[in-house]
Amino acid sequence: MDFAIPAGYLENLNEYKQFLAQHLKPYLSAWYSGGEIPREFFTKLGSAGFLGFDAQNGVLREQPVLKQALIEEHLGTVSPGVGVAVLVHVSLGAKGILLFGNGEQKKACLPPASRGERLFCVGNTEPTAGSDVAAIASQAEKVSGGWVLNGTKSYVTNGAISDYALVTAVSDPDAPRSRRLSMYLVDLSSSGITRTRLNKKVWIPSDLTRIQLGDVFVPDENLLGVRGRGLQQVLEIFTNSRVTISALTLGTAVGAFRLGLDHAGKRSIFGRKVVDYQAKSFEAADLYSKIEAARLVLWKTCWEKDSGQDFRLGASISKYLTVNLAREVGTWAADLFGGASVVFEHPIHKYPMDAWASSLGEGTQDVQKLIIFREMMKKEADYGASNSRS
Ligand SMILES: Cc1cc2nc3c(=O)[nH]c(=O)nc-3n(C[C@H](O)[C@H](O)[C@H](O)COP(=O)(O)OP(=O)(O)OC[C@H]3O[C@@H](n4cnc5c(N)ncnc54)[C@H](O)[C@@H]3O)c2cc1C
Repeated sequence: MDFAIPAGYLENLNEYKQFLAQHLKPYLSAWYSGGEIPREFFTKLGSAGFLGFDAQNGVLREQPVLKQALIEEHLGTVSPGVGVAVLVHVSLGAKGILLFGNGEQKKACLPPASRGERLFCVGNTEPTAGSDVAAIASQAEKVSGGWVLNGTKSYVTNGAISDYALVTAVSDPDAPRSRRLSMYLVDLSSSGITRTRLNKKVWIPSDLTRIQLGDVFVPDENLLGVRGRGLQQVLEIFTNSRVTISALTLGTAVGAFRLGLDHAGKRSIFGRKVVDYQAKSFEAADLYSKIEAARLVLWKTCWEKDSGQDFRLGASISKYLTVNLAREVGTWAADLFGGASVVFEHPIHKYPMDAWASSLGEGTQDVQKLIIFREMMKKEADYGASNSRS
């Protein structure tokens, strides 16, 4: 077993660190106060090759997920709120087009997406459908030359800044539950779209936007993937992005851990540094061990995905473990700062809330447990079958 990270990925990570030092860190507090990520940040990421694709001889190739996970973890340590905005564009929006777009759609969308010139998001969740994706109620009515969409997408990350959304809607109301939905590439400047930014307190400075669709015309060529396969398609997109959101969530834990440990090494209370109390150093050792364990599961999942194996179980275990970890580390680190931790501008303040946000994206902890149990039982059945043969 070889745990070495390819040298090229490490070089890429070092370049990314320098990039963030120059193009993110100096502006971050202004973005936090303004609640906005400037579009030019995405074009800068794109021209530096940090939006999930490599161009080789004019052909775009998706980067290996381990390479993406390494930089997403690092971005998560610095700002989970910026991390999620990048993740949504790359791992949900562009990835959805890569997975399900036809030749024309890929040709039209992926080059500008990889350059950060056109931004993509996913509008799936509705007032009646979150964990239960099949319960989507938005309607897609077939008309001459296209579709007319009506409905509400309750929570769309990057909904305010994106150009296009991948939207699920009921195209075949009389079909069985698993065949009712289709997916559409919706131009967010279309007539009939209303976008409302929600006043959220997590993952600042990304936006969380409600998108209402009122008689929005979507041309036939913007049907994404196969009619009636929208449920399977959106679930597959989430399965894929579960790997990168785990990296982001790991970064959330690591960022909080480093801030907390640094503070505990500087702050004296009752004549001793906080870290010199064995109770605190043991807590740090315990959490560090959990960080290492979660990272190993994540990297194994990346390896499974990059080598073309089934990564569904690993993706959900990674998500489940990193969310538990980020929740635990986030509050531990915030506690170490005492009263200062409740002040919005304080660097530690956002991590516990960002860990909470991570628990919702790409499926709640309960949903991960449903998937883990289902996939685990398949493995156990395989194990039982091979044992009964031997
Ligand atoms: C910050 C943020 C960003 C988001 N970004 C996007 C986005 O870009 N695009 C998008 O489409 N959506 C987005 N969402 C929505 C997110 O995906 C949903 O909130 C999430 O899937 C949960 O759905 P829900 O809110 O309807 O909760 P519900 O599905 O109503 O769940 C409520 C509770 O029931 C539990 N539960 C559900 N099913 C089961 C079960 N079978 N067994 C046991 N317990 C169960 C859940 O774990 C949860 O605790 C975002 C949400 C947030 C908070």
